[in-house]
Amino acid sequence: MAANELPTGTVDAVVIGGGAAGLNGALMLARSRRSVVVIDGGDPRNAPAEGVHGLLGLDGTPPAELLRRGRDEVRHYGGHVVPGEVTSAAPAEPSPEGDPRFAVALADGGRLRARRLLVATGLRDVLPDIPGLAGHWGRGVVHCPYCHGWEVRDEPIGVLATSPASVHHAVLFRQLTDDLTYFAHGTDLDDDTRTRFTARGIRVIDTPVERVESGPDGVTGVRLADGRTVARRVLAVATTLLARTEGLAGLRLPMEDLPNAMGRRFVAGMAGTTDVPGVWVAGNATDLTAQVGASAAAGALAAAHINADLATADTDAAVRLTPAR
Ligand SMILES: Cc1cc2nc3c(=O)[nH]c(=O)nc-3n(C[C@H](O)[C@H](O)[C@H](O)COP(=O)(O)OP(=O)(O)OC[C@H]3O[C@@H](n4cnc5c(N)ncnc54)[C@H](O)[C@@H]3O)c2cc1C
Repeated sequence: MAANELPTGTVDAVVIGGGAAGLNGALMLARSRRSVVVIDGGDPRNAPAEGVHGLLGLDGTPPAELLRRGRDEVRHYGGHVVPGEVTSAAPAEPSPEGDPRFAVALADGGRLRARRLLVATGLRDVLPDIPGLAGHWGRGVVHCPYCHGWEVRDEPIGVLATSPASVHHAVLFRQLTDDLTYFAHGTDLDDDTRTRFTARGIRVIDTPVERVESGPDGVTGVRLADGRTVARRVLAVATTLLARTEGLAGLRLPMEDLPNAMGRRFVAGMAGTTDVPGVWVAGNATDLTAQVGASAAAGALAAAHINADLATADTDAAVRLTPAR
C-alpha cells in the first residue's frame, strides 16, 4: 500500500496535523516500529514565511521544504502521511482488555481506527481588523523578533499595539532597529512606560491607526485617523493565538484562555498528556509561543510517551495471555 493511503484495521497511532510537531512525533513512532498515520491539512502556520529561522543546522530552510523532508523521513520508516482534513475524532469502544480506541473520520469520507491519538493541529493567528494589514502577513507584517527580526533589522519599524503587552514587543523590536514607532492605537500606556520609551528613542503615536498603506514593494506606511501618514516599511503586531480545534470536539479535550487575551490552547501536562486517556497534544496547539524547534521537540517527546504507554499495554496483554504457572 502506498504511504499516502489510509491503512485498514486499527493502527497504533493517528497523528492529527503534519507540521513540525506532528511529523516529529510520527518519526519517533515509526522508528519505534509503531503503525502510524499522519493526517495533514497542509496549512502550516508559517506558510507565508520565506524561511524557518533560528533552527540550528536548518536556519533559513523554506517551511515547505522542511516539511517535505519530514514527510519523506516518516515514510522512510514505514509511517503514512496522508493529505486530508480530520472532521471528527472521538473515543470508540475500548478493546475487551480496556485499551483505548479512537474513531477518526476525514472530510473525503475516509475512516481510521487508532489506539492512541497525537493532536498536533497548530494554531491560527488572528490579526487586528485594520484595513490593509492582513495582506502583508508574514512579510511586511510580522509578529516574532526571533523568526524574522534579523531580516527586518535597521528598517523603519512600527509596533501596532493590540494590548498593554505590546510594550514588551516594542522593547524586543528596539533591539533590531533604531527607528521604531509605537502606535498605541487605543491601548493604555502609562507615564513610566512613556519615560522608558523616550529613553530608548521609541516614538509614541496615540492617534488611532486607520489603515495600512502599501506599494509594489510592500508596506509603505500607516494612515492615522487624523489623515496623517507615518512612513514605515515593517509593522510588528501581536496576533491572538487560537489553537486549531476543527474536527476535535468529540475528544472533549480541556481548553484554557490565557491572560491579556493572548489566546486559547489545549491544556496538556508533562510530555503532552491530556485528561483524556490515550490522547496527547504537542506543538502550537498547546504551547502557543513554541517555535519550530520547540514544537518538533514536543512532538518527539509526546511520541516517546505514547510508545511507552503502548509498550506497557502490549506487555499487560501478553501477561493476560500467558498461562499461569
Ligand atoms: C509568519 C510566521 C513565521 C514564522 N517563522 C518562524 C521561524 O522563522 N522560525 C520558527 O522557529 N518558527 C516560526 N514560526 C512559528 C512556527 O510557524 C510554529 O512554531 C510551527 O508552525 C508550529 O508547528 P506545529 O506543528 O505545532 O503547527 P503547524 O506547523 O501549524 O502545523 C499544523 C498542521 O496541522 C494541520 N491541521 C490542523 N487541523 C487539522 C485537521 N483537523 N485535520 C488535518 N490537519 C489539520 C494544518 O493544516 C497544519 O499543516 C512562524 C510563524 C508565523 C506565523
